[in-house]
Amino acid sequence: MPLHSYRENETILAKGEPASSLMFLISGSVNIHLNDHLIAKLTQGAVFGEGMFSNQGKRIADAVTVEPTDVLLFDLTTYESLLRQNSKVALKCKLIFEKLYKQNSLANEYFFTKDPAKYLALVAHNEMKKSLVSFVQSHVKKINMFPLVATGTTGELLYKEAKIVLTKKVKSGPLGGDQAIGQMISTDNVCGVIFFRDPLSSHPHHADIEALGRLCDVYQIPLATNPATALAVLNYLTDTERYEPTIDNSLLDDYSQQQAQVVQGEST
Ligand code: PGA
Repeated sequence: MPLHSYRENETILAKGEPASSLMFLISGSVNIHLNDHLIAKLTQGAVFGEGMFSNQGKRIADAVTVEPTDVLLFDLTTYESLLRQNSKVALKCKLIFEKLYKQNSLANEYFFTKDPAKYLALVAHNEMKKSLVSFVQSHVKKINMFPLVATGTTGELLYKEAKIVLTKKVKSGPLGGDQAIGQMISTDNVCGVIFFRDPLSSHPHHADIEALGRLCDVYQIPLATNPATALAVLNYLTDTERYEPTIDNSLLDDYSQQQAQVVQGEST
């Protein structure tokens, strides 16, 4: 097998290229990136590019060197010559790489199936539903620019009264719907929340409502709780020039660093 040497930060395999070879990592280290996520850190002895032994014709991830790295290249020509020399070994290799491919696909399933959409979430307490329906009716064009998610009853009413078709529906708020939207925020799937909260009644799921607001603050998601702020948020979100989240979220960065120190402290 030919030896290939790479400098630091070089792309060895790129998404979209034909998956016609695999690599044995002889020295150095390589990061595997899938859709902007770091999914594996490989070191000496690792094998990558095993998609060569799958029905996938193209690379689905990038392999980038972290430091100067040497790899041995195992391509179709090498495989064919191994087949001629020792078919038993060649077929055994094929089985091993197919198994590796299946294991890795399973482990990274989340990244393959991740929903890339950024939803606008619509929620209203019962006393505020009328107000949300009328807000949506007045701004239907802008609202429909987004994939929409709404809590159960709000969603049904929006369809009935304003013919708003949701891309996604979650349970009714008191049954976990607010938490479900919170979960979507944590996976980076929400661009804004319009939640007309009723300020004059108490609610059994008060903790969930608070939690949703808190997550909006953690992830810096624009949250509107009445028609006036909803208009501001809608204008902000539809003003593409202004919207692209250019505001750095130091909260998240600081927290990640702090937690990394906690892990480091535990392991020393
Ligand atoms: P609902 O839930 O849309 O199912 O009424 C809203 C809420 O109370 O959070």
